[in-house]
Amino acid sequence: MKLIGTGVSPGVAYAKIKKLEIQHQLLNITGNLESILDSLDNVSIYLESQSRLVSDEVMQGILEAQSMMANDPDLKSEFINNWENYKSKNTLNELIEVVFDQFKKKLENIGGYFAERVEDINGINNLLKLNIMGEEFPEFELNEDCIVVAADLTPSDTSTMNLSYVKGLVIENGGPTSHTAIVARNLGIPAIVGCSDARNLKEDDLVLINGREGFLVKEPDFDFVESEKARESELINRYKRISGPGKLQDNTIIQLLANCGNIVDAKKAIINEAEGIGLFRTELLYLNQITAPSISEQVKVYSEIFEIFQGKKVIIRTLDAGSDKPVPFLNSVKEENPALGVRGWRLIREFHSVIKDQIKAISIAQESGKCDVWVMAPMIDTADEALEFSNLAKENGIKKIGVMIETPSAAMVSDQIFEIVDFASFGTNDLTQYVMAADRLDSRLSDLTNSWHPAVLRTIEIVGKNAQGKPLGVCGEAAADPLLAAVLIGLGVNSLSMASNSITEVKSFIANQDLGKCQNIAKEILKTKNAFEAKELAVKLFN
Ligand code: PEP
Ligand code: MG
Repeated sequence: MKLIGTGVSPGVAYAKIKKLEIQHQLLNITGNLESILDSLDNVSIYLESQSRLVSDEVMQGILEAQSMMANDPDLKSEFINNWENYKSKNTLNELIEVVFDQFKKKLENIGGYFAERVEDINGINNLLKLNIMGEEFPEFELNEDCIVVAADLTPSDTSTMNLSYVKGLVIENGGPTSHTAIVARNLGIPAIVGCSDARNLKEDDLVLINGREGFLVKEPDFDFVESEKARESELINRYKRISGPGKLQDNTIIQLLANCGNIVDAKKAIINEAEGIGLFRTELLYLNQITAPSISEQVKVYSEIFEIFQGKKVIIRTLDAGSDKPVPFLNSVKEENPALGVRGWRLIREFHSVIKDQIKAISIAQESGKCDVWVMAPMIDTADEALEFSNLAKENGIKKIGVMIETPSAAMVSDQIFEIVDFASFGTNDLTQYVMAADRLDSRLSDLTNSWHPAVLRTIEIVGKNAQGKPLGVCGEAAADPLLAAVLIGLGVNSLSMASNSITEVKSFIANQDLGKCQNIAKEILKTKNAFEAKELAVKLFN
C-alpha cells in the first residue's frame, strides 16, 4: 500500500510506526476568567521552560515564539472582551474556540507564512485546555527507533520526545512551511506532511517513507527498501551540502539570501547559511496594532535583525499592507478589489507619514553600520512611483534603493525604472497573480497561479533584459524551487531569496549548472504552452 503526502525533509527511513494520539478534543472545560488568564500564563511559562530543554536552536526559537504568543496581551484582551457573552454557558469550550478562531483568522487572512502559524496556535489552545482542567502537559516517551505518525505535532509535543529514536515523521495535516517541516529539515529527519491517509495506519506497522518525494509504503519488500536507500544516497551525493556562497558551476555568483519576518526566521537563516536577507517583511510590526509603531520601536526591531546579520546584506521592504496582508488601521476602507486597491507603496497616497517614519526608522537603525542595508518598496507600478520612493529614501539617507517587480506594468517599464533605482527584486507570488489575473489565495486556480507559466516567465525575461547588469533578485516562492531558480537565472536573475530551509537544496542544484545551460534551457521553456509543460521540459532538460 502506498500513501502520498508532501515531502518536506529529504531522506529514506524504514521502521515501525509509533502513533501519537494527542488529546485534541477535551470536552466540558469549566472555569472562570481568572482560570483562563492564569492558565495562559502557565502555558507561556511551560513553553518557555521547554524551549530551554531542547538543544536545537530552531526548535528553541519556535517554542519561545509560542510562549510569547500565549502571553500576547491581544489574546488575553480577546478573552476579557468575550467573557460577558459566554460566562453563562456550562463550558468554556465555545469561548476558547471563538477566541482562538478569531486569532487564527487574523493570521489566515494574511496568508503564506502567517497562515502556517495557525498550527502553533492549535498547540497553545490544547495546552490551555489541559491546564484549565488541571491535567498534566503531555509527554511522549519513545524507547526504540520508530516513524512517528500523528494528526498534528506541535513544537511542545516534539520537545518532549527523545528525537534520537525518531527516524521519520508522517503528519496527517500541516503544510510545507509548518513547524514540523522546519524542525525535521533542520534535524535531518525524513518527513512527510499532509498525508491524510496515514490515519489508517496501525501501531507497529512496518513502513518505508521517502521524505524527498513524499510517499510512504506499508510492508515493503526487502529489495524495494534496499533500492530506495541506494537511490537516496545517490541523490544525497548529488545534492550534498555545499559550503560557501552560492555560485554556478562556471563560478557565476548567485547570492542565496533568506526571507525573514522576525528574529526566529533570522536565526534560522544563519543556521541555513543564508548570505544575508533578501526580503525582510516588516508587516509583522504593524499587524494587530491600532496605530503605527513609533520610530523608536521600529529602530529596536530593525537593529536586532541587523545585529544578527552583521557584515552581511539585508534587504528590508517598506510596509506592504493591504490585500492579503491587511492592517486594520491602514486598510479600513472597504475595497471591491483589495488586490488592486491601495496596498503596498500606494499607501503613500493616504498615509505619507507612516511610510516616511518607517524609512526614517530604517535609516536610524542602519547608522550602527553593522550591515549593508538595502531598502525596497513593494507594489511599484510606474517609473514615477519609483522616483517618488527613491527621492524619499535619499532624503532620509538610504544608500541602496530598489523596488519590487510585482506588477506587469512595472515589468513593461522596467527600463525606465532601472534608470532610477539601484536594484530590483521580483515578487513572483504577486507578479504571477497579476500577470495571470488569478487570485493567489484561490486554490481552484492553481494551474494559473503557478510561476512556471510561460506568460510569467516571458514577463520576467523582459525585466532581465532591461536590468543592464544591476542586481536583480527573486524573493517570491519561485526562488525556492531549484529547477525554476535555474530557469530564472537563465532569464537574468542574479540573487535568490527564499525560506531559509530551501537554501541548501537550491545551492546544490545550481552548483551543477552553468549560465549558458540555464540560458539555453530558459529559451526553450519560454516556448511551452502552460506551467505543467514548462516544468516537465525543465525536468527533462536539466537532468
Ligand atoms: C511576492 O509577492 O512574491 C512577495 C515576495 O511578496 P509577498 O508574498 O509578501 O506579497
Ligand atoms: Mg508581494
